Amino acid sequence: QAKRQGRNHYQFYSSEISERFHSSVTLRNELQHVLEQGALKLHYQPIIRCGDRKIIGCEALLRWERDDGSFVSPADFIPLAEDTGQIIPISAWVLQQACEDGLKLRELGDFSMAVNLSAVQFNRANFIEALTHTLNLTGFPAKNLHLELTESVLMEDSGRAIKLLESLRERKFSISIDDFGTGFSSLSYLKMLPIDTLKIDQTFIKDVLSGEHDAAITKTIIGMAQQLHLTVTAEGVETLEQAEFVEQAGCHFMQGFYFARPMPMNELIALVEQQKNL
Ligand code: C2E
Ligand code: MG
Ligand code: MG
Ligand code: MG
Repeated sequence: QAKRQGRNHYQFYSSEISERFHSSVTLRNELQHVLEQGALKLHYQPIIRCGDRKIIGCEALLRWERDDGSFVSPADFIPLAEDTGQIIPISAWVLQQACEDGLKLRELGDFSMAVNLSAVQFNRANFIEALTHTLNLTGFPAKNLHLELTESVLMEDSGRAIKLLESLRERKFSISIDDFGTGFSSLSYLKMLPIDTLKIDQTFIKDVLSGEHDAAITKTIIGMAQQLHLTVTAEGVETLEQAEFVEQAGCHFMQGFYFARPMPMNELIALVEQQKNL
């Protein structure tokens, strides 16, 4: 009986894996042509200042629209693109597009633009040169560009990461740690990193009102950020109650579906213009 169950179990997994394998082979082939086909788009999610709740910036989030009109999540295709090396031209495109769009937003006032960096991109020898090149080309100011990195990327080779972050800081870029709290980075290590912002992972915000632990973790991260003179952003704010919780805890910025979903550039411009006229 046990043996049979074990076997069924195995078959269940094996067919699931083969399905995933096939769909990833298809995606992998399609991925080779996304850039030339213009199938990639950036959507922008507003970042809100706590207190007056004004939009002060946004995060660029990559979207891939397939021929059949379906969307592939970046969580699914970025790992593939990292495997194939396609992430390099894709990341270059993201950076340039985000800087160009960021300049349009800056015509309406001071505005920050956050972009997510892939480990593969960060680990390339010419990473800073490529970044500086795009900024020079577009004229977007480095201090308004917020580079989002996860703890795991920074921990891979912490010595190198610290050196890189220091030279990014010399060039005035802003650095954020994305999904903070999920990566087990040690506090003594955090102390050594020249960073500007912690983005509290959305899993903590999700249960901030129902889960005692998540409330405690959120408050602790905010308190620690304040002590270290870092700014702190709450990700994944979906309700008014969550927004009020993080504001009362002393958070600086927030982001989430309660305020706005990621949207095309023209919609964000309309939203920012509307806010200006209030
Ligand atoms: P992330 O950087 O942590 O981005 C936040 C994700 O949470 C986004 O998912 C966003 O749409 C979603 N989100 C925002 N507010 C809420 C909310 O209130 N509730 C919920 N449930 N979700 C919310 P998305 O766009 O699917 O992106 C997933 C991840 O893919 C990103 O996580 C980031 O790690 C990666 N990614 C996206 N764009 C890029 C890119 O251009 N380059 C690289 N390397 N990675 C990217
Ligand atoms: Mg991010
Ligand atoms: Mg995040
Ligand atoms: Mg994430």
